[in-house]
Amino acid sequence: MKKLAVNIARLILAVAFILSGFVKAVDPLGTQYKIQDYLVAMGLGRLIPDFMTLSASVLLSTIEFILGICLLFAIRRRMVSKIVLVLMTAMTLLTLWLALTDPISDCGCFGDALVLTNWQTFWKNIVLLTAAVIVWRYPLLMPRLIGETNQWIVMNYSGVFILLVIAGRSLYTLPQFDFRPYHVGTDLRQGWQRMMEGEDSPYAEFFMELADEGEDITENVLNREGYTFLLVSPHLEQADDSQLDALNQIYEYSLDNGYPFYCLTASTEKGINHWRNITGAEYPFCNTDDITLKTIIRSNPGLLLLKDGVIIRKWSHNNLPDEQDLTGELETSELGQLPSDTVATKILWILTWFVLPLVLLTLADRLWAWSGWLRKRNNNPLNKEKVIMRKKIVAGNWKMNMNLQDGIALAKELNETLKADKPNCGVVICTPFIHLASIAQFLDQDIIGLGAENCADKEKGAFTGEVSAEMVKSTGAQYVILGHSERREYYKETPEILKEKVLLAQKNGLKVIFCIGESLAEREAGKQNEVVKAELEGSVFNLSEEDFRKIVIAYEPIWAIGTGKTATAEQAEEIHAYIRSIIAEKYGNAVAEDTTILYGGSCKASNAPELFAKPDIDGGLIGGASLKCADFKGIIDAWKK
Ligand code: PEP
Repeated sequence: MKKLAVNIARLILAVAFILSGFVKAVDPLGTQYKIQDYLVAMGLGRLIPDFMTLSASVLLSTIEFILGICLLFAIRRRMVSKIVLVLMTAMTLLTLWLALTDPISDCGCFGDALVLTNWQTFWKNIVLLTAAVIVWRYPLLMPRLIGETNQWIVMNYSGVFILLVIAGRSLYTLPQFDFRPYHVGTDLRQGWQRMMEGEDSPYAEFFMELADEGEDITENVLNREGYTFLLVSPHLEQADDSQLDALNQIYEYSLDNGYPFYCLTASTEKGINHWRNITGAEYPFCNTDDITLKTIIRSNPGLLLLKDGVIIRKWSHNNLPDEQDLTGELETSELGQLPSDTVATKILWILTWFVLPLVLLTLADRLWAWSGWLRKRNNNPLNKEKVIMRKKIVAGNWKMNMNLQDGIALAKELNETLKADKPNCGVVICTPFIHLASIAQFLDQDIIGLGAENCADKEKGAFTGEVSAEMVKSTGAQYVILGHSERREYYKETPEILKEKVLLAQKNGLKVIFCIGESLAEREAGKQNEVVKAELEGSVFNLSEEDFRKIVIAYEPIWAIGTGKTATAEQAEEIHAYIRSIIAEKYGNAVAEDTTILYGGSCKASNAPELFAKPDIDGGLIGGASLKCADFKGIIDAWKK
């Protein structure tokens, strides 16, 4: 139930973020105008230069889109859910302010594609904020659509798509999808007539008034049968003048063929004269409303072609029709007809070039993961010796037991015993610090490795009572146990502290036996996978592949340590296999197959054979039963059975 709720919330958020990011990226200038509206409402209008508001527009759409994709694919679940929560909290507060004070009429969250009132936006954000809280609370309940190793492909592909293909292309040419009332195919004549008849109309501000004579020619132009070119520039002073030759050529073409050509602008006489001077423009200029001009076309200047009052073509100044396009009359040329690419063909293009590759990648990734799982399942445990090359280890953890003399005696006894009867696996004893130097003197470390139970998270210095990794190494020890649940619980060792310890241990050439495992409450809540994963991610998944290969993992369910309760061999195998699978996701199958994963928790000579027979259990970390030579030997011998 909880999982279902989290995934519904995830889907709602993913769709909202992807759509919102996409429609903003389709029209970066529109989003920029909206940002400028916000700044004006906040009294900051003049302070922020245009290039900054445009960059903010592109950045905002990219972030929204990528967050949506991350939610959909469940990429970087914890980090993404936190960012989404922070964003939604900020947006909800902002829209509450909008709804209460009404400084601008619509929030612009879905660009011009879906215009909501300020209160509608606020309630929409309340729904999204609730979803964000749910996802943030249980991020790991979102199953991944793609393995961790391939997530970067999805993120980079989506980033390039939204930034370059959608936003970049829209800025260079024109928005691929036009949600405004002046899109190609719009019958301006009809819209304008309806407005004149008193109907509510988005064309109320559309007018053309000859700049020199002051005559309103809107009706004449819209009612004209045939073609008319409209060059649109909200402000001629800011218009791009790099395509003057192309513009003049189009004007000449219109003269030759008898098509009227007007320039629509909100500039003053000074601006118009300036443009005339630099371009030699001879076409007539008409005054029009500034906002209307910005709405008509997202390019300054941009060009429109009307036929019988219908907008049939729009061009940005970057892709104006050239000489080859302008041969013959419009009536018979392709240019004079409505373009063949409809909304459906554009959607198909996006499905083919963006959605389909991601679907194929996801399918391939899942197929690969599934075949890996099958391969593992088909590995006959009886052939384990031949198939699996990773090291088998039985390690003892003496904890805070035995004085120096008793410890030395036990180590000597074990040394002699194993020299006489060679083990079939690696054997390690991890002892209190004070035993290390003495035991190292006589221990045959070809047969028994020696390790500490802890080391400091600092390199050296004024840390009274601590023992550094370098000091441990200098005793002759080769191993160190880190992350034991007793140290996590009683000494409050956090994942960050353990991360430091692991780095220092490895820097000093110690092999780390890294412990992970869940508490009883966590097991009962079914969170064991989540917990072990978080522990690995928190302290060892930062390592390079080379360094991770030096780590031995010890899975120790806390509820089984020193309690006499053992996880059943099946329970242990299930989670060991899971641990191996997340190592595979992170470092690949080869590393996962080579990683030694020990089981710890009331392991004894009596249950060791059954546990060690499981394909993903590579030995044990032994507490209580490592304090007596015979008990420990009994467990070591499980590898001989
Ligand atoms: C341990 O503390 O690492 C451990 C596994 O203890 P025990 O074997 O006593 O449960």
